[in-house]
Amino acid sequence: MIENWGIIGHRWAVDFLRTSLIGGRASHAYLISGPAQLGKALLALRLAQALNCDSSELSGDPCGECRSCRQIARGIQPDVRVAGMASQAIGVKPEDAAKQRDLKIDTVRDWLADVNLKPYESRRRVFILHDAERLNEAAANAMLKTLEEPPPYATLVLVANTSGELMATIVSRCQPLKLRPVPRAEIATALRTHKQLAAEDADLLAAWSGGRPGWAFQMVETPDVLAAQQEQLEQLIGLANVPRGEAFRWAEEQAKAYRSGEQAKVFAALALWQSWWRDVMLTAGGVPGQITHIDMRNDLAKLARSYRIAEVRDFIAKLDATAQQLRENVNPQLALENALLHLPQIETARR
Ligand SMILES: [Zn+2]
Repeated sequence: MIENWGIIGHRWAVDFLRTSLIGGRASHAYLISGPAQLGKALLALRLAQALNCDSSELSGDPCGECRSCRQIARGIQPDVRVAGMASQAIGVKPEDAAKQRDLKIDTVRDWLADVNLKPYESRRRVFILHDAERLNEAAANAMLKTLEEPPPYATLVLVANTSGELMATIVSRCQPLKLRPVPRAEIATALRTHKQLAAEDADLLAAWSGGRPGWAFQMVETPDVLAAQQEQLEQLIGLANVPRGEAFRWAEEQAKAYRSGEQAKVFAALALWQSWWRDVMLTAGGVPGQITHIDMRNDLAKLARSYRIAEVRDFIAKLDATAQQLRENVNPQLALENALLHLPQIETARR
C-alpha cells in the first residue's frame, strides 16, 4: 500500500474513506472541497483507485501497482470519467477558453452521458468533476437527478475550490470532505523526503506555501516562478515607500491585467501582499513562529517597531475587502487605488 495514499496531510480524510470502503459504507457521491493546490484532485484520484484496485477490497488502500491503479493514474481507465474546466477547454481557442467562467450544461451531459452503463472492466464507475464551484444553475440541475439516484455501481466525486457557492441541493446530496491547509511541518518533511530539499529550503518553501502541498511541490519544479514571486513581493513591500504616483501606476498595471483576464494573478498578488503585512502584525504581536516570510525575519522585526499594529490590522482587512470588491466587479483600478490609500504609515516618533 501507499502510505496515506501518497497524500501529504489530510490523514483524517484518507482514514475516513479507507474505513468506509472496508466497511462497505462508501457513499455514492462525495464533495471534496478546500482552497486550491491542497491535494483535492489527488484525493479524488486515489479514491477512484481504491474503489477499483485489485487488492483494495480488504485493505481499503489502492496498491498503485495493479493494472487498474496504473490505468487510473494515467487517465486511461474507461470506467473513470473526469471532467472540469480543463476538459471543457479542449478544442476551444485558448483566448476563448480563458474567458470561460462556468461549467456548462453540455460538459455535465457529456461527462454523465453513459452513467447508466455497467462498468466495462472494473467494480465501479467513478465520475470525477473538477471545478464544481463553477457549475452554473442549468448544469447543476442537469446532474441533480443522477446525484439523487445514481446507478448502483457509480460513484460521483465533485471537487470544488470552495463549497460556499455550490447549490445547496447539490451539497446536501454529497458526503462532504472539507480539506484544510496542511501543517507546515508535514509539508517540510515531504519536501525533504520526496524532493531531497535541504532542511532550510524545505522549511522556507513550506512556510511560503500557506499549507498548500501542491504549490510547494510545483515550486520545486519551477524555480523561475518562485523567483518572480520574490521579485513581486519586493515590489509590493516597496509600495509603502514610493511616491503615490508610482504606487498608482502599479494599481493601473494590475487593473489592466485584471481586465485582460489575468484575475488569478491579481488575486495572488493581493494574497502575497497580505501575507507580508500579516507577518508584520505577527512579529509585532510577538508570535513570529507563525510568519510566512521566515527568510526576512530581521526586516520584519525592524518594520514591526515602525507601524501602529491597529493600522496594520486594518490594512490586512482592507485587502480582504479589496479582493471582495474585485469579485463584485467594482472598477479594479479604483479598488486597488483605494487599498493603497490605506497603506500603514511609518510612525516616525517611534523610530
Ligand atoms: Zn491497485
